[in-house]
Amino acid sequence: MAGIYIHFPFCARFCIYCDFYSTKRTGEISQFADALCGEIKVRKDFFKKLGVPVTTLYVGGGTPSLMPAGSLSVVFRELKDKFSIESIESLDEVTMEVNPDDVTPSYLYSLRELGVTRISMGVQSFIDSHLVWMNRRHDSSKAVEAFNAAREAGFDNISIDLIFGFDGLSDEEWNYNLDRAIGLRPEHISSYQLSIEPKTKLGRQYEKGVYNALSDEVSLRQYSTLQKKLANAGYEQYEISSFCLPGREAKHNSSYWNRTPYLGLGPSAHSFDGVKRFWNEPSLTKYLKAYQQGDGKEHGDVVKNETSGQSGTVVKVVHSEILKKKDHFNETIMLSLRRADGMNPNELRAVFSEEMCSEFEKSVATQLKKGNLIMDGDKIRIPSGLLFLSDGIIRDLIL
Ligand code: SF4
Repeated sequence: MAGIYIHFPFCARFCIYCDFYSTKRTGEISQFADALCGEIKVRKDFFKKLGVPVTTLYVGGGTPSLMPAGSLSVVFRELKDKFSIESIESLDEVTMEVNPDDVTPSYLYSLRELGVTRISMGVQSFIDSHLVWMNRRHDSSKAVEAFNAAREAGFDNISIDLIFGFDGLSDEEWNYNLDRAIGLRPEHISSYQLSIEPKTKLGRQYEKGVYNALSDEVSLRQYSTLQKKLANAGYEQYEISSFCLPGREAKHNSSYWNRTPYLGLGPSAHSFDGVKRFWNEPSLTKYLKAYQQGDGKEHGDVVKNETSGQSGTVVKVVHSEILKKKDHFNETIMLSLRRADGMNPNELRAVFSEEMCSEFEKSVATQLKKGNLIMDGDKIRIPSGLLFLSDGIIRDLIL
């Protein structure tokens, strides 16, 4: 199992809370598609070297639904050729994130034709005043229309995103949002507490005291409502923020939590080959310079020597980090315990040192006594009622 992630770095406008890398330079989408094909050529041996087949593809961003179907088709063809994929639709899962405002029936049909099998729709709320506050482009009726259009186009695997835990969202409104979401019967629902990121408009409002964070108590209550309502409606929680109808877990995202290798393409995208993590700089300008020549080589940014004024140093757009054993250990714990079914601590012993494992087991025993972990067969997991507090629990477990 291995996956490809494409980061499409364009948005028509920025949501107040978002800190993903993105630019409004939508006039450069076709140059980006060329550069993406260039990067695919550079990375063509990634999976061959690992000896693993590509099984999932995820096109995220940014707002990938701003990408014309023609450009997407060229990129998919390049992926198919360079990574020896039989056909895009033969992959286990091909997800594309869409903004409700962009999709038309014909665009959705084109996505189906291209092999996209799963849609992830950024609905966020069914209350128009909240969508305006978030600076989203769509309103609630457009979200419902887009959802129904995706169904009409034949998508039988749709995920929607919802946000809770922000000042201004009452419990009644959250219940209403959940009822509307359940009413659509998507196969998957991802729901996130709004987080205040420093370099966003919301972050600046928070610093100035214009925006106040919702109390943990209310956020926790909204998270519990989310869990209860979705469980009653037949959704299973399989990760902190992820709920699905039986058998509809997101395969691509699950591979991140299982730490299988993935290749990230596009500015700011991260890759992991099992040992090393590497990532492209979050800069469209540098990305175009590095890959647009499409000659199978990665080009650097040539910088002038400040004192001599002569061209010299080549600055690469790719950064990398070799993970130490301890990093692998901690990541395994962090990612496994995000999953509702937890992890088997005995499996760590096959990979990690006696010293690391026994230290971890001591912390596990303490957390079991406190009730922050429970034993379920041979697995440990965070009880459902404490998943909202998982960051703190996991922090006490890692080395
Ligand atoms: S949330 Fe999505 S649409 Fe909004 S700014 Fe971020 S990437 Fe763009």
